[in-house]
Amino acid sequence: MKWHERIRYKMSPQTGSIIGWAGFFAALFIAIIVMGKGASNGMTRETGAVVLVAGLLIAGLFAAFWFVFGRCYECGRMPRPSETFCARCGARLDRSKAEAEALKEQSREPSEALAEAERNGRDLTETMVSSEDIFDGVVLHLFRDTIKLPDGNTSTREFLRHLGAVCVVPVTDDGKIVVERQYRYAVGQTMVEIPAGKLDYKGEDRLEAAKRELREETGYTADRWTDLGTYLTAPAFSDEKISMYMAEGLHKGEQDLDDDEFLDVAEVPLDELVADVMAGRITDAKTQTGILKAARVISGRRKRDE
Ligand SMILES: [Zn+2]
Repeated sequence: MKWHERIRYKMSPQTGSIIGWAGFFAALFIAIIVMGKGASNGMTRETGAVVLVAGLLIAGLFAAFWFVFGRCYECGRMPRPSETFCARCGARLDRSKAEAEALKEQSREPSEALAEAERNGRDLTETMVSSEDIFDGVVLHLFRDTIKLPDGNTSTREFLRHLGAVCVVPVTDDGKIVVERQYRYAVGQTMVEIPAGKLDYKGEDRLEAAKRELREETGYTADRWTDLGTYLTAPAFSDEKISMYMAEGLHKGEQDLDDDEFLDVAEVPLDELVADVMAGRITDAKTQTGILKAARVISGRRKRDE
């Protein structure tokens, strides 16, 4: 990609047309004001001409900027600065092409084969007949429900309700990922994981929770956050949903751990972590998912920037 293509790729057409439009008229306006003032103060003809030429030249540069960077990235039309959606093709003009492409990958339609399977599929819904509250703890709420199966017979389902959680893939400026070593009592192992934590209450803003967990566990704050989607940890027996984010533009600060929380922080190159995931050395689900998704987003960006 050439430098001007790169700018076009990263700047929204609306920003391009606003800068071009405002600069064009501001340059003309200032030139006219200066010439008007100069005429009444006895400015010479030559100086007036220089001001006029300079004003036109600067206005011309802004017009060129407008012409190059203020174009719809879908159809090439030059929209008015006030247009948020292209009047010809409907593309979002307040978004750069780079952003539009990143969003497209997240919001794409399901594959044709899956859509077909869904259209032709049976209704597999199971409905509750009765519910038994087995245990209500600090983190987990265990139930045993009697349910009606799609064929009308009954069965039981044991499952956990969970507040939900967030996890973060923190990427340093030199392409390393901040990971933690933490002992997990349930599996009796010290695991390598990305920073993560439970929501504090039902309905808590997930991005805010992610910012808090990153800061408390690693000490880092971040300038840029990218949504990597959500996933269900273990839908066979729990409704725990984890939202994933990638954090970039990191700033080091102080850790702030809970009294019962012990963890080490390390920085590992992304490529090596991907290899560790593929080799089965990293077994934590959110870490596998987060690392592979972040790697895909980063390599996609690299391809687009080439
Ligand atoms: Zn268009």
